[in-house]
Order: sequence, then structure tokens, then C-alpha cells
Amino acid sequence: MSILIYAESENKKLKKVAYEVASYAASIAEKTQDDVVAVTINAENTDSLGQYGVNKVLNVQNESLDKFNVESYSEILTKAVRETNADIVVLSQSDNAKYIAPLLSVVLKAGYASNVVELPETENGFQVKRNVFTNKAFGMAEVTTDKKIIGLSSNAFGLHEKETNVETVDFSPELSDTKIEVKSVDKNKDKVSIADAEIVVSGGRGLKGPENWGMIEELAEVLGAATACSKPVSDMGWRPHSEHVGQTGKPVVANLYIAIGISGAIQHLAGINASKTKVVINIDEEAPFFKVADYGIVGDAFEVVPRLTEKLKEFKANNA
Ligand SMILES: Cc1cc2nc3c(=O)[nH]c(=O)nc-3n(C[C@H](O)[C@H](O)[C@H](O)COP(=O)(O)OP(=O)(O)OC[C@H]3O[C@@H](n4cnc5c(N)ncnc54)[C@H](O)[C@@H]3O)c2cc1C
Repeated sequence: MSILIYAESENKKLKKVAYEVASYAASIAEKTQDDVVAVTINAENTDSLGQYGVNKVLNVQNESLDKFNVESYSEILTKAVRETNADIVVLSQSDNAKYIAPLLSVVLKAGYASNVVELPETENGFQVKRNVFTNKAFGMAEVTTDKKIIGLSSNAFGLHEKETNVETVDFSPELSDTKIEVKSVDKNKDKVSIADAEIVVSGGRGLKGPENWGMIEELAEVLGAATACSKPVSDMGWRPHSEHVGQTGKPVVANLYIAIGISGAIQHLAGINASKTKVVINIDEEAPFFKVADYGIVGDAFEVVPRLTEKLKEFKANNA
């Protein structure tokens, strides 16, 4: 038998989440003695999956799939599950994977556990630990169906190298006519998107106005980070809506989230709870954000941020 993963790519390059789901599946496979089979769509250099325990890649090359189409993508995965007789399917929690998983679940009559953060416990049934209530708590769920779909939370399991001999084969299942036609995709022009970024530098109303965002961008530049903001900031048009983080905005699952001049309202925290390390810079020591911060600086952003950027530049120059 096998464990199937969907190894996502963008512009033909495998994404980091592809290696995360591979690492996770390979760890399950170690216990169950299964093979890990990856499905890739229009990706190049799929051999790199062999570093993370993938035994075989079903490589789909089809220009009509360059733009994501949930019907065709889930049909490919369904056919791959049938071809490999996989009982477990592991996907990421990317926007695309979150579209695919429910469709796959219906067609395969498979239980779907989303936001999974740890390897399953298999001693007594098949139980998974999940992030729930916008990452404020954990819940245990038991998946009782024969086929099981796991949506792995970003950054939850990390990358674990396991060198494997990987075989890549062409996979060209016949696809049904799709009722969805993707006419165009408008991509956010930012250098790093907040959903994929390892580091995010985020600003709130404490920055007073859009003219002050230069210092946020400069700090982000030094750190190779994406920039983000609170809801009022994007509502007032200081920043684009694509940067708005939170319950009504985008979730951020970064390794480092730096919140500058943001109060820490629950609706904002809902979007960043799953980020690993949170650094808060706020003039008000009573700001609620400090309660969830790993590191906090009580100080005026207009003094702290330029000094922090300067220090980081110095550090980078000395360690180049
Ligand atoms: C249904 C609903 C959904 C919502 N969804 C979201 C959401 O998705 N995302 C979101 O962000 N909000 C959301 N909100 C709004 C949320 O409740 C807050 O109003 C918002 O997050 C506050 O933004 P802020 O922290 O930037 O501004 P403020 O609340 O005005 O806070 C500004 C902070 O900056 C600090 N400050 C001021 N000057 C300085 C300085 N010089 N240096 C350092 N710090 C300084 C202040 O001490 C303060 O803590 C939602 C609200 C509702 C009702």
C-alpha cells in the first residue's frame, strides 16, 4: 500500500509545503512500512522529493492545468488514490489544498481532518491532533473511514530529511470536461506573499499614516520578510487589502511575526495565532498583544524600528 501526498508547486517549482507533507507522510510510512507516493502537477525537479522520503512521483505535465482548477486537480488526486490504492492522503493547508480536500473526501468517502499538527496516534484507532478555534486550542479527532485525508497545518511538523531513491513516472489520467474555466489569475505583486512567508513584518494604526510605511518596508527588506497590516490600516487605504491579516483577512503561519503599533484585538490575533515566534513593538505596555508575545518591546515604533533595522544591517554586514 502507499501514502499519497499532493506536492504543490508554483511556477513549476515545488513549494516548501510539498516537502513538509512529504516529511510527514514519510514519518507515518516508517511505522506502517508503506511507500510514499507524491502527485505533482506541472512541476520540475521532482527528484528533490527523494530527500524527504518520497519513493515515487506521479508527475502530471499538462499545460491546461497551469492555472489551478479544483475539479481537474481533485480528479487527478482521486485517480492517483485509486491507482496507488492509498489509504492515507496528506495535503497541506494552502488555499488550493483546502479547496481540493473536501471534494476528494466526498468522492472517496474519506474522513478529512484539517489543521493537523502531529503524527496520528494509531494504537487505538486513528487519532489526530488538530488546531481548533482559530488556533486557540487543540482538539483530538478520530478518523474512522477506511480512507483518510489529512490537512497538515503549515510549519507544524517541519522538514525532516530522509534520503530515498525516488522514481518519477508520467501520470496522464483522462480528465472529465470541467465546468469551471479559470480565465485569469491576478497575482499579488509583492515579493513574498504573507501566506507563504517565513517572516512577516506587520504594521497597525500606531504608525499614524501610509507615509510612515517606509520603515516597515525597510525592516522587511533586511529580514527578507513580507509586509502585512491590521484591518483598519487596509480599510483606510494605507495598505492593500492583500496585506490585511486576521479573522476577516489572511492567516499568517510564519516562523516570525513582528507586530508594530498593533493593539492585538482578538480578530487580529485569530490570524496570527499559529505563527511560531511573535515579537510585539507597542508604546502601550497594557496593549493586549503583549499577552501573546514571545518577545515584547515597550517603545515608540518611530524610535525602535529604525534602530532595529540599523542593528540588523550591521549584523548582516558582519556575518556576510
Ligand atoms: C467582525 C470584525 C472582524 C475584524 N477582523 C479583523 C481582522 O481580520 N484583522 C484585524 O487586524 N482587525 C480586525 N478587526 C478589527 C479589530 O477589532 C481592531 O479594531 C483592529 O485590529 C485594530 O487595529 P490596530 O491594532 O492597527 O489599531 P488600534 O486598535 O488603533 O491600535 C493601535 C496600537 O498602536 C499602538 N501605538 C500607537 N502609537 C504607537 C507608536 N508610536 N509606537 C508603537 N505603538 C504605537 C497603540 O498603543 C495601540 O495598541 C475586526 C473587527 C470586527 C468587529
